[in-house]
Amino acid sequence: MKVITRFAPSPTGYLHVGGARTALFSYLYARHHGGQFELRIEDTDTERSTEASVNAIFEGMQWLGLEHDSAVKFQSKNLARYQEKIEELLVAGQAYHCDCSKERLDKIREQQMKNGEKPRYDGKCRELGLNKTDQTIVRFKTPKSGSVTFTDHVRGTITVANEELDDLVIARTDGMPTYNFSVVVDDADMGITHVIRGDDHINNTPRQINIYHALNMPVPEFAHVPMILGDDGARLSKRHGAVSVMQYAEDGYLPEAVLNYLVRLGWSHGDQELFSKVEMIELFDLSGVNRAPSAFNTEKLNWINQQYLQQADSLRLVGLVERRLQHLGVNLPTTVNTAAVVELFKDRAQTINELVDMGLFLYQPLNGYDDKAEAKAFKESAIEALQAVIAACQAVADWAQADLHQLIADVVADLGVGFGKVGMPVRLALSGQAQGPANDAIMQVLGQSESINRLQAALDHVNNKFA
Ligand code: GLU
Repeated sequence: MKVITRFAPSPTGYLHVGGARTALFSYLYARHHGGQFELRIEDTDTERSTEASVNAIFEGMQWLGLEHDSAVKFQSKNLARYQEKIEELLVAGQAYHCDCSKERLDKIREQQMKNGEKPRYDGKCRELGLNKTDQTIVRFKTPKSGSVTFTDHVRGTITVANEELDDLVIARTDGMPTYNFSVVVDDADMGITHVIRGDDHINNTPRQINIYHALNMPVPEFAHVPMILGDDGARLSKRHGAVSVMQYAEDGYLPEAVLNYLVRLGWSHGDQELFSKVEMIELFDLSGVNRAPSAFNTEKLNWINQQYLQQADSLRLVGLVERRLQHLGVNLPTTVNTAAVVELFKDRAQTINELVDMGLFLYQPLNGYDDKAEAKAFKESAIEALQAVIAACQAVADWAQADLHQLIADVVADLGVGFGKVGMPVRLALSGQAQGPANDAIMQVLGQSESINRLQAALDHVNNKFA
């Protein structure tokens, strides 16, 4: 049997972390078994579905590299098929028209709540044989007795008595199918063998299984994956930070790192943390999916991203860094060699954005000096040090070949001072900060004239201070 899985988002927002994780598990399960992975857009709720979010879902899936095998299916383009199947159930006496008003339904619900009963439809129209009007909905005739049993790949065997389930609505007054109906028709028509989805749908599954039986369609296997929590134990939401997958792209994360982080959210393989996509496909199975909810941990995501940054192809990083620089308003190209900037910072930064923040001073004129560092580094003795370094820089004939580390060491030796007496003012002059890469590395990237310009500006600044 060929495994076919799907991701079936409702396009009512961006692709969020939880959805992406569900999509990833479905994708990996299909790939692991040499099967197919499909994408279906569940857009029958015309009020809440938007084209922008359809595009956001495509964009997120593409960024993560979760490619699907067939053309995308849109439920809104499949309405005739649902109507045909609803008709079939009506003819077979497995569904019926219902004209109960909202007021009546509210009233019985209220009464049931008062009696401590589970709110449910009381079946008033079930045997009335009403005809369709523009006021009627269609309800499914849930069997009155018996039970539904299924073995969930994550949760184990689940049995629900049919008595617990009422006659659910399968078509609204305008004929639009409800989620529980269209999902069954599509999963069956698409030959889905394994439905992998969030466990917020687990209560729908017994209802859906009854519909499969009524339609004489094969019931797929199910795996309900636990939800994702924020670090405070509450369901992951916007207030925990970024939850849209594309926000991570914008924040400077690498897609393979996000994918690696997502696979570990609720799945494990021993204590291994880093998985290439090929490895994920090789090792993923539903038996490794945890039953307990997993908590989102930004620190861990950052750590994983850092591991991938360090191994990433330099040319690719240059492209990402330049895109971010442009986003921040830096006009490229500049005289700064971005490949050298990447080399300088890629072992320190956890994200592309952080790397760019660290290196931005190389591309933009300094806007002042760090106050604390200035008090320490720009003392009167800095005048002599800066003058000496400027003179040494001016004497260099071939900057690219020059040993700039030695150049500074020679100044230190000539002046007969400690290394910091030269190193500190030079670093502050070049970068505006007290911390950062080695001075010779900064000077190499800035080039001869910009290095001298910055040293000279600092010298003027210090001279002014002590004039
Ligand atoms: N459209 C549903 C959702 O986004 C899909 C649920 C399912 O996978 O069956 O929650």
